[in-house]
Amino acid sequence: MDSRLIKHSLRPAVMQPLNAYKGLRLDSASTFGGCRSFRMDGGCWKLAVALMLLLLGAAHAEGQLSWRMEDFIRAVQQVEDAGGASQPGAVLRTLRRAAGLGDAVVQHFLGNAESRAPGLTSDLSDYVRTAVHHRVTEAAREEGVVLTPDGSTVALAPLLLGLEAGFRARTPGRTRGLLQLTLAKDLGVALSAASSASTPLASDGCWDNRTAPRVFTLSHPGAPLTAAQVNGAMDGVVLGTRVSGGSAGSARLSSLLTEYYCHRLDGTGMDGAPRFISRRRRENFKALAPPPVLTRLAVKAEELRRRLGGRSAMEAAEKRRLAAAVKEGMKEFVHVFMNCPPIVSRCSWGAAPYRGTPTQLSLPLSYLFIHHTASPSQPCLSFEQCAANMRSMQRFHQEDNGWDDIGYSFVAGSDGNIYEGRGWNWQGAHTSGYNSVGYGVSFIGDYTSRLPTQSAMALVRDQLAACAVAAGRLKSSYMLRGHRQMGSTTCPGDAFYQEIRRWDHFGVNGYG
Ligand SMILES: [Zn+2]
Repeated sequence: MDSRLIKHSLRPAVMQPLNAYKGLRLDSASTFGGCRSFRMDGGCWKLAVALMLLLLGAAHAEGQLSWRMEDFIRAVQQVEDAGGASQPGAVLRTLRRAAGLGDAVVQHFLGNAESRAPGLTSDLSDYVRTAVHHRVTEAAREEGVVLTPDGSTVALAPLLLGLEAGFRARTPGRTRGLLQLTLAKDLGVALSAASSASTPLASDGCWDNRTAPRVFTLSHPGAPLTAAQVNGAMDGVVLGTRVSGGSAGSARLSSLLTEYYCHRLDGTGMDGAPRFISRRRRENFKALAPPPVLTRLAVKAEELRRRLGGRSAMEAAEKRRLAAAVKEGMKEFVHVFMNCPPIVSRCSWGAAPYRGTPTQLSLPLSYLFIHHTASPSQPCLSFEQCAANMRSMQRFHQEDNGWDDIGYSFVAGSDGNIYEGRGWNWQGAHTSGYNSVGYGVSFIGDYTSRLPTQSAMALVRDQLAACAVAAGRLKSSYMLRGHRQMGSTTCPGDAFYQEIRRWDHFGVNGYG
């Protein structure tokens, strides 16, 4: 895995188009993170559609197709163009039929998708089924998931079910079954299953390749839920609510998905970004589904699932046990997915392996040290750019400095993500003399005369720090300091240093 990723890190920033789409000149949508919506004039689109279908089929047959959101959105465009009905509700029913999403709970809330759905070619139908059908194989591969331009991996089934529930709602916000269809059903199943303390509630994973992802392997295959299921469910809830009651106007499904997943940030980063974009999934979801509501619905969904499965109603004692198990399990869910910021794992940004043997930290730590990278001097505004910065910093720290790994514990991008450096458990190389007593968190950019974006600062100051305290990794009485207080350096830059002096936990006393 790693030697291949190192090689990738040396490639130019503009990635090669997929083999599957070579020869198709459709804007720049085939470059990584391009994800631009494209529309064609005249008869040219018919030819392109035919060619696309041919290529989709050929690519699928050869197993060449990569699982990126951009590819799926292009397939949705094909469904819209080929089926004759471009209304999102009809397109979603077609997708649901092609994907075979028809268990009892789905039918209970959304009805049967068989009728009213126009036919698709078998190639397109095959592609949709493979893209949407969610399962975890014995080899720990998760299928039915795609890599999005923001670096997160998303299961398509809960996303599409949430959207369909939203489009069916006649009144804004009144979406029947939205939470049950997207998240509560899976949460109920996951939380009612007994799991050991060492298994996380939800497993994330690693793609085989970031530019042409084809295989997603879970890091903890025994976990009852996956991070991609949660991401897809959150997006389904956010988008389902957004489109409910006709509030999305006459927009096509492919345009809605493009706006949501492919928004390019400008120089203001997340500060000036629109509300409904995938990078904001956690904050939007939190506002729509407070934990007590989610807990109640997870219990209800599990009851419904059993009832629809033909099992007799739960007895009071069993119901109490289920409610208690769900309530307990929800604590981990809320911590990881609602209170902690999104943390991009090492495999996701393409880290090279650690050299040598890491030193384990003894937790909880007493300090949080704030740094800026100085070089790269510009804030990174996309996952692809931030990931490339991470790789170049790691290369510099390993090859020029001769260190074992990238020095920082975590790094804040301006794209809405935190990037995992050495992580929670391993001692970093960021603050000479104090690496064993604190985490070193760095902001990508030079902050001598300007500040990081408000959202990047909030991500570290409010979310990452609280996340570390809640998990027992940082003492609740931790002290926050700028690197310059611990050694001879101007880090984290004059402007930024003046700013952090006003943060909670900032400490001026001597070390001890
Ligand atoms: Zn520093």
